[in-house]
Amino acid sequence: MQTKIPEPVQGHNFISGRWTPGTDGTVAVNSPYTGKSIGSVSVPNAKQIDEAIQAADAAQKDWARTPMKERAKVLFNFRNILLRDIDMIAHVKSSESGKTFDEGKAGLMKGIEVLEYALSLQNADLGGKVEVSRGVMCEYRREALGVVANITPFNFPAMVPMWTIPIALALGNAYVWKPSDKTPLTALKIADALKEAGLPDGLLTVLHGGEATVNGIIDHPLVKAIGFVGSTKIAKLVYTRATALGKRALCLGGAKNHIILLPDANPELSGVGISDSFTGCAGQRCMAASVLLAVGDVSAHIKKITERATSLQLGKDMGAIITKAQVEFLHGAIARAEAAGARILVDGRKAKAPAEFEGGNWLAPTVLDQVQPGSEAAKIELFGPIISIVHVKDLTEALAIQATSEYGNACSVFTSNGALAERVTREARAGMVGVNVGVPVPREPFSFGGINASKFGHGDITGAHSLDFWSDVKKITSKWEKQNDSNWMS
Ligand code: NAD
Repeated sequence: MQTKIPEPVQGHNFISGRWTPGTDGTVAVNSPYTGKSIGSVSVPNAKQIDEAIQAADAAQKDWARTPMKERAKVLFNFRNILLRDIDMIAHVKSSESGKTFDEGKAGLMKGIEVLEYALSLQNADLGGKVEVSRGVMCEYRREALGVVANITPFNFPAMVPMWTIPIALALGNAYVWKPSDKTPLTALKIADALKEAGLPDGLLTVLHGGEATVNGIIDHPLVKAIGFVGSTKIAKLVYTRATALGKRALCLGGAKNHIILLPDANPELSGVGISDSFTGCAGQRCMAASVLLAVGDVSAHIKKITERATSLQLGKDMGAIITKAQVEFLHGAIARAEAAGARILVDGRKAKAPAEFEGGNWLAPTVLDQVQPGSEAAKIELFGPIISIVHVKDLTEALAIQATSEYGNACSVFTSNGALAERVTREARAGMVGVNVGVPVPREPFSFGGINASKFGHGDITGAHSLDFWSDVKKITSKWEKQNDSNWMS
């Protein structure tokens, strides 16, 4: 289905279950498809941020006392509403982020997968009790933190927030969400869905804006934990600010992902897998293939990759770029790569905008060959549908180049040789490694996350390893009777 651009809306902040106009100006939202306004959101001032967080804190006390099985009922309703409204939400998120409709829908489904994981927590044994000495019991209890916050990027307006909303709420927290200022309209729909699901007022707060809103949230004494997903530059800023205040923070940053292509790879798998990886979401995802480390003679494989990439229809098979400024940056990066010696095998700058979307931000898939390992196109996160091919003589050289990346989100290998694949899974310096998979996003409950400059903080943002981030573990030691046969512990 083609993305439908909705009528412009004026959105506000979701505070204590009500849409509240912010008094610190507005942020305009333009659709990457048309370049035209599809609405705006109002920005709260410092007093409104404070009041919103105080209200969240007040609401959280009752929520934490509510048994998890009852909290899960709200999340179950939320899941049903999202599934009922999935097309409508997918149109909103695609029209503001530039995704295709199918990508918009897939992102929401991935978010729902995390929701299903959160629903399973009600049946998991999250505690444990052991008689550690005669008559002395030790017990674990998992407790909510209070108010937690999350700051999310433009490129997954529903999926990334849905990584954390269900788990944080299931564990008994109140959740404050600062959506991207470029794609804040999806948040309006998600908040409406949670309200309809029966979430008590104050447990979800949506605050719009940029740096000032984020800093207001981080600095607020009632906010106990900060999750962040976005660029490495801002991830580092948020992590540093939050941890300097003694708060826990988990900040996922940018990426520059490598795919190692070996000559024995199945060309059917590599052609589709690699092409779809760098063109999906128009390259605007932290798991996109960005550097192709071509080992030996893989010209037949590269032909298949370029054939598939050039067959994609803009606006239908591949979406738009978030802003005009980003399109200009990508054009510049292609020109600079050529000046640095790269050969342009496929030049996306020449493509025409799709009919009806001439005013939008477009760049078709671009394949740069013979890129030098240390150059901009091989090292910097470009965030567009561009793949840089770097030729290497063997797997050892490919792994050595991959290891020099400042990032460490994803790395994949395409090969038919199990031993070589196993070597890559062991030696690649990345948090997520794929074998014959172009986008090695783990499915729940395996969580998500990189290493190095792709993640600041410990643990995972979803899955079992996220539970320690979104809650505290309390240890209780108790004794009810005096024991006659005492030992050192008694
Ligand atoms: P961004 O860093 O520009 O923005 C992320 C969030 O930070 C937004 O909510 C934004 O409003 C806010 N922000 C912007 N400037 C700020 C400042 N000075 N202080 C505090 N907050 C600020 O990222 P983006 O352009 O929205 O998203 C794309 C980036 O996100 C890419 O680098 C991509 O790789 C990364 N990303 C990473 C993951 C991951 O899981 N590692 C997932 C998705 C996207």
